[in-house]
Amino acid sequence: MQTIEADFVIVGAGSAGCVLANRLSASGAHRVVLIEAGRDQPPDREEPAILDSYPRIAYFDPKNVWAELKVYLAPRNPPAGIPPAALKRYEQARLMGGGSSLNDMQANRGLPCDYDDWASSGAAGWGWDDVLPYFRKLERDMDFAGPLHGTDGPIPIRRIMPDAWPEFSRAAAQAMRHAGFAGLQDQNADFRDGYFPVAISNAYDRRVSASTAYLDNTARRRPNLHILTNTVALNLLTEGRKVVGVAAREQTGPLQVRARETLLCAGALHSPAFLLRSGIGPGAELQALGIPTVADRPGVGKNLQEHPALSVSAFVLSSARLGERLRRHTHLGLRYSSSLAPETGSGDLYMVALSKTGWHPVGKQLGSLVTWVNKPYSRGQLSLRSPAPEAEPEVEFSMLTDERDAVRLREAVRMAARLFEQPPLQAVTSDPFPTSYSERVRDLGIISRKNAVMTTILATCLDGPSWLRRMLLKHVVTEGPSLQRMLANEDLLEGFLRTAVHGLWHPAGSCKMGDPADAQAVVTASGRVIGVEGVRVADASIMPWIPRANTNIPTLMVAEKLSDAILAEQPQAASAASAASLSGGQGQEGGAPSPPATKDTSRLVVTS
Ligand SMILES: Cc1cc2nc3c(=O)[nH]c(=O)nc-3n(C[C@H](O)[C@H](O)[C@H](O)COP(=O)(O)OP(=O)(O)OC[C@H]3O[C@@H](n4cnc5c(N)ncnc54)[C@H](O)[C@@H]3O)c2cc1C
Repeated sequence: MQTIEADFVIVGAGSAGCVLANRLSASGAHRVVLIEAGRDQPPDREEPAILDSYPRIAYFDPKNVWAELKVYLAPRNPPAGIPPAALKRYEQARLMGGGSSLNDMQANRGLPCDYDDWASSGAAGWGWDDVLPYFRKLERDMDFAGPLHGTDGPIPIRRIMPDAWPEFSRAAAQAMRHAGFAGLQDQNADFRDGYFPVAISNAYDRRVSASTAYLDNTARRRPNLHILTNTVALNLLTEGRKVVGVAAREQTGPLQVRARETLLCAGALHSPAFLLRSGIGPGAELQALGIPTVADRPGVGKNLQEHPALSVSAFVLSSARLGERLRRHTHLGLRYSSSLAPETGSGDLYMVALSKTGWHPVGKQLGSLVTWVNKPYSRGQLSLRSPAPEAEPEVEFSMLTDERDAVRLREAVRMAARLFEQPPLQAVTSDPFPTSYSERVRDLGIISRKNAVMTTILATCLDGPSWLRRMLLKHVVTEGPSLQRMLANEDLLEGFLRTAVHGLWHPAGSCKMGDPADAQAVVTASGRVIGVEGVRVADASIMPWIPRANTNIPTLMVAEKLSDAILAEQPQAASAASAASLSGGQGQEGGAPSPPATKDTSRLVVTS
């Protein structure tokens, strides 16, 4: 079997893994191996669908995701009167760049209080003042400067401004103004309630993923960075309570990477599953599966969080549609407060307007207000079905189990419906109806001849007489009761909430960072797994609370901050690394010489 020896082995080249691979290899002092199960997206050869500013072609394409992964969004065994959740697809990226190569590119930091909550829940050193330097370090804001912004980080952040928006997005903004909300400029620096142009990680109308930004040609030419794609990490290699690397499977056969430290960046569903398979988790659960316990950590796979979401969509008059001028479909966001309870705080509800809901002709006719609970309290969990490395975990998000989430999502749906009643939106839309990311919507999201033919016929009819459109929207497009009936009947609204609630692909929290004295904490404030040596988790799993934000930028921040923490702990490189680390940029920090033009892995010890 081939064995590679390194200082660090990183499992997963997603949002977090790409950051760590860059930062840890930058000085040249450490040998870094990055393992990714999916295929590469090398610089200048990224696929057009991945670069596309319209992301939904990429994210419903089965070849880009863990295709066997299915989850329960709501509880499987709810109290009487609530229907049990069904297993549904839940897209998680399986390619270089991970979620950042597929996602909707919304670049949102959340609110300062999110990170102050992290610190007060036991993640010492993760308050707003501690994390702000890393939000600045990762970004190059192309629209705004000032003390809250970075100017030379790897990730470009910009907004499409209202004068470029289609009429639907402009009307939605006016509807928000009519409803009493303030217009804001910069969601990442002005934390009041209001609507704003959505910040996106995108430049010149192309996606900039963590792979594009952090694993450019300069980084890839480093002789001390070895990237293995199409390679699945199977489990940790342990010697007693010490982790000494990972076992993996390349296309050509088995492989071991032995390293001083193993860094798990497999995402909030696969990182905890990886720990569980390796004997780190709730002892009784491991025993039941016949997995020898290395460390009994009851919190592994618990504390799982997501933003529960629903939408109201409507037929958009042809003059107000996105058309072909812009690829990007999300321009406008709204953050607002429910004032439900003191602890829900400000900005606990969120909404974005989509001026197109699918690649196909029907998607181009429908606009949508997608709304979610930005500060949820429900907690889910995941466990192993089987110790086999290829078996996906059993995931139950348990959305809406906390009544505060259900109450606010109900209000959010009512708010979306009210916005469609405002004159500006009424002027450009008709026939609003409740919607969700159902399995049918996912099936239609896959590009195929059959879907193109079906939706072309339906779209032609929808553009026909209003009686025909109404009839088709009611009987063919809407999956459930009409909006009017639902809003007039609490039971119908409740039924819609419980059966149609969906997530936003923001899993977080399943390896909670906290005080080692907290039995539910899985990692320390420097990402070290409590109870074992030599392994850290460094991705969205460690967030103690999901922030009031889409989770990509917060995950990049986590990885930037942990890179610094890891480098500061390396004796020989500590001073050079910390001097260079907050200077921004992604090149050869510390004035290291330019890398050679061709890849040379001679400094990584490879034996067969
Ligand atoms: C469809 C979609 C839309 C989204 N929209 C947005 C948005 O608009 N804005 C936003 O901020 N966030 C969004 N998100 C969420 C955001 O992208 C994630 O929070 C973020 O990417 C999480 O980063 P991560 O590093 O924790 O995990 P990931 O980026 O998921 O990376 C994990 C990586 O590990 C690899 N991996 C897993 N197991 C193994 C193994 N055993 N061996 C080898 N490799 C393995 C995976 O293939 C993957 O590449 C979206 C996500 C998705 C999927």
